[in-house]
Amino acid sequence: VLVVEGLGKRFGDHEVLRSVDLRVNRGQVLALIGPSGSGKTTALRCLNGLERPDTGTVRVGSDVAVDFATGASRTQVAALRDRSAMVFQHYNLFPHKTVLENVLEGPVVVQRRPRAEVTAEALELLARVGLAEKRDAYPFELSGGQQQRVGIVRALALRPTLLLFDEPTSALDPELVGDVLGLIKELADEGWTMVIVTHELQFAREVAHEVVFIDEGAVVERGHPDQVLRAPHEERTRQFVQRLL
Ligand code: ATP
Repeated sequence: VLVVEGLGKRFGDHEVLRSVDLRVNRGQVLALIGPSGSGKTTALRCLNGLERPDTGTVRVGSDVAVDFATGASRTQVAALRDRSAMVFQHYNLFPHKTVLENVLEGPVVVQRRPRAEVTAEALELLARVGLAEKRDAYPFELSGGQQQRVGIVRALALRPTLLLFDEPTSALDPELVGDVLGLIKELADEGWTMVIVTHELQFAREVAHEVVFIDEGAVVERGHPDQVLRAPHEERTRQFVQRLL
């Protein structure tokens, strides 16, 4: 479903991504791990065009292929963005919109789907995550865990090919982390295709089909979660994993 080749990005003199390759098959979960500042978030943002890489190709499904080296058109980047939905570390809900309005915004305003149909779907999704009663609440009235569940519902309502999670639990109080991870695990079990940037290595081990460890903008090691997290081949991976597990 997702094939990324030769992704490169620099901010001024700082080379943040160095020829990163990623591949995720339909229904599979890829966990991206690595030290702070290693480029994980930037890589994720490049996958849906929130950040424009300098080089590399990103293909989603069989019909969207963007080659950033030769200059991607706005239409191509828009198509790429339409295929994926991002769940952010800090939820990024619209503060002046209600829960329901937050969920409807993308499908109704951007995708131009019929409001009534999207509303019915949104209410079902909210009920599923236990937030049906909060449909008219504003983000500030919700806990972090509830806000993140709205963030996830908002992503699902876009019916994306690919779900992208950027450290979805790192802003949460510890007692709220489990709920959100549980929901993400459920979605993985349902067969959603996902890329998850996370520091939760135990979770990565349970949910991911492949773990990719990046450091200083380059892939150091990739493989089955048990191998990368339990018996890494590379010294840098070993040190990183030891510190977090
Ligand atoms: P963390 O785990 O702390 O979120 P990360 O692995 O996700 O880190 P990135 O957020 O991708 O890392 O950042 C990689 C590097 O790129 C960092 O050194 C960061 O300062 C730099 N960087 C990110 N965005 C920009 C930007 N818009 N302009 C300049 N530098 C940036």
